[in-house]
Amino acid sequence: MWKLICVRKVLVKFLRYLGTYCVLNVPRRRISVWNLAPLLAVLPLVAYFYAVQAIYTERMESFERRLAERDLDTLRERLEKAVGRDSLICRDYAHWNDSYEQVLRGDPKWIEDNLINGIAADNFGYEIVLFQSANGKVVFQKGFTPQIARGIQNYRLLEKCLAGQEPAGLAMLNNKLYICSARSIVKSNGTGRPRGMFFTARLVDEDVLEDLSPGTTGRLVAHARNGQSVGVHWLGGKPNLPPSLARVLSTAYIPSSRIVEKSLDGSLLYGCLPVNDLRGNPVGAMIHVVSRAALIENLRMVQQTSLILMIMFAFTGLVGVAYMRNRTLALRIHRDELTGLYNHGYLQEFLKKQIQISDRYSKPLSVIMLDVDHFKFINDAYCHSAGDMVLKSVAAIINETVRGTDLVARYGGEEFVVVCPETSLAQAAAVAERIRATIESRSITLKPTRTKEHLGAIELHVTISGGVATYPDDGTHHSELLEAADAALREAKRMRNRVVVFADITPAAKPKRVSVIDAFLRDSSISAIRPLIAAIEARDPNTIRHSEKTAEYAVAIGREMGFSTYDLSLIFKAALLHDVGMIAVPSHILIKETALTEEEMEAIKRHPEVGAAILAQSPQLANVANIILYHHENWDGSGYPKGLKGEEIPIMARVINVAGALDSMTSPRSYRDCKTLVEAKQEIMAQSGKQFDPEVVRAACRVIDALLRQQEAVQSAA
Ligand code: GH3
Ligand code: MG
Ligand code: MG
Repeated sequence: MWKLICVRKVLVKFLRYLGTYCVLNVPRRRISVWNLAPLLAVLPLVAYFYAVQAIYTERMESFERRLAERDLDTLRERLEKAVGRDSLICRDYAHWNDSYEQVLRGDPKWIEDNLINGIAADNFGYEIVLFQSANGKVVFQKGFTPQIARGIQNYRLLEKCLAGQEPAGLAMLNNKLYICSARSIVKSNGTGRPRGMFFTARLVDEDVLEDLSPGTTGRLVAHARNGQSVGVHWLGGKPNLPPSLARVLSTAYIPSSRIVEKSLDGSLLYGCLPVNDLRGNPVGAMIHVVSRAALIENLRMVQQTSLILMIMFAFTGLVGVAYMRNRTLALRIHRDELTGLYNHGYLQEFLKKQIQISDRYSKPLSVIMLDVDHFKFINDAYCHSAGDMVLKSVAAIINETVRGTDLVARYGGEEFVVVCPETSLAQAAAVAERIRATIESRSITLKPTRTKEHLGAIELHVTISGGVATYPDDGTHHSELLEAADAALREAKRMRNRVVVFADITPAAKPKRVSVIDAFLRDSSISAIRPLIAAIEARDPNTIRHSEKTAEYAVAIGREMGFSTYDLSLIFKAALLHDVGMIAVPSHILIKETALTEEEMEAIKRHPEVGAAILAQSPQLANVANIILYHHENWDGSGYPKGLKGEEIPIMARVINVAGALDSMTSPRSYRDCKTLVEAKQEIMAQSGKQFDPEVVRAACRVIDALLRQQEAVQSAA
């Protein structure tokens, strides 16, 4: 049972891996039959594979037989080709002015150069070569014995050549089987009375049989009429022959047509091809043996290769389909369904990233916000789908009017935002104006199906208003920048069909810059700390400013150190409230400008514990309490209240320690000088490993460097 469960588990994991989670990245609840579609596509391939296998095994008999038949065809073709090849070589020597002359003269020098060193040389492989005049005189010969002469005489080759025939094919000479060619000796151009015969013969030996053999699956045996076999060469010893073939070999019986038959043990299949001589009489047989074992081996190789190819093909297809689906899904997540533009969420991400880029490379960045004028009227007057059509058309026009590097998003109902990287305010205003003018100049056609029925097709003219804002002048945070563009848009809306830049609007129309604390307090989940913030602010506005700045630095350092979003919000709360214990410090100590006495110092040093005790009262803030209790502990153990060392101190407390120090050093206080960012960085680095955790110091240095770059950019822009 447990085995079954295991198999099921593995199978499920495999399916998920292939079809869904890993490649497609689809969350569990979105799995449907379609997610498994690529996997299902593999099934026909597997089915095909097994079908082929079934055919191979079950139909092996007929397959084997067809193969043997085909091998015999190949054998015959090869034999004809070999004969044809020799006949052409023979013709080359016979149809030649030189031969035409020399068959009468018999010049030894010419014979030596052209026949002995030519066609009779070993490289041609002819056992017999004959150069004979019309009256039977032998001018040159090789291997021409009296027995051979009788054989040639039997076939009446000289007479045939003189009569203009071209006899070529198999022949029995001196009880051996030869491939023979004979040609009449005439002039090079084939004219003239034949003056004799040129003859070549090649013994059908094992080498020739090897060349003729149709494949690696068997062995060819040539058998001559007189009972002598040529090149008998059985695979793995002489097999158990089927009776009809045993008869061919033992009694020199030559079948009248081809035979395909199995050996008695069924392991071999014989194909027997009767062959005729050049007179057309049966002269022997060629037997080709097909071994089933070799055949199966070949098939197995083919099968294995095709299986591997199939798996590769299926896998590639699978990954391809999965990749495409994944891409489409990913694209769809970022797109607005109606217009196909990027959506609100993606816009925010893109803008954040662009702000970072323009920070790093000191490049300008501008944002255009657009809103269709009197859009509600279009919806009311025609219908909602007419409104949709207008939105699509406007989106298309905006898209074609901007550069490829600009990002166009649908911000809300009929509002669009264009983010223009590396674009100054003036350039962005020009782009916005171009969009406005293009939309004004175009008409949008609504088909009758898109409008209320009685209205028919309609040509519609719409206008659009735009607001432009630029980074960092009009806002340093992405939401601030969008708010600035929105404020400019609101200003434009007072007249409509125009573009307004943020810098041009009256201060009253500008949105108040949202402080970090305000933004944070909008988060209702932390409403518990509102009264505490209010209490600190009432006591000492300077403390709240310091807390705000410390929180900002702590989050930046935390982000550098790779904190999760949850941890960032936790450290933000802790940093905002880290000095809440100061409430218990008497006012006169807080405002004292001269050096503090030891007693006064003790009162101040109690603030982490007091703060922690206050926060511990609220269950929502208990985790924050633990952080602020230790925010004055030092890495080397010299801090208070517990004198903890190194990693005993909670990491967030170590970060707040550095962030707090950074703000204290860089903000003006009546009793000491204010340091620049560069000086503060040096001081913090000097305390690395002493007051501060070295890792936090490294992250803080990166934050300070980014701030310095930002300052530089602002200065150079000014
Ligand atoms: P203004 O010139 O001041 O911008 O006037 P307005 O009518 O365009 O402004 P308002 O914001 O009052 O109207 C926006 C309308 O857009 C209201 C809402 O019904 C409509 N709307 C929002 N989303 C869609 C949508 O996807 N399709 C359609 N057809 N209408 C939408
Ligand atoms: Mg509108
Ligand atoms: Mg609107």
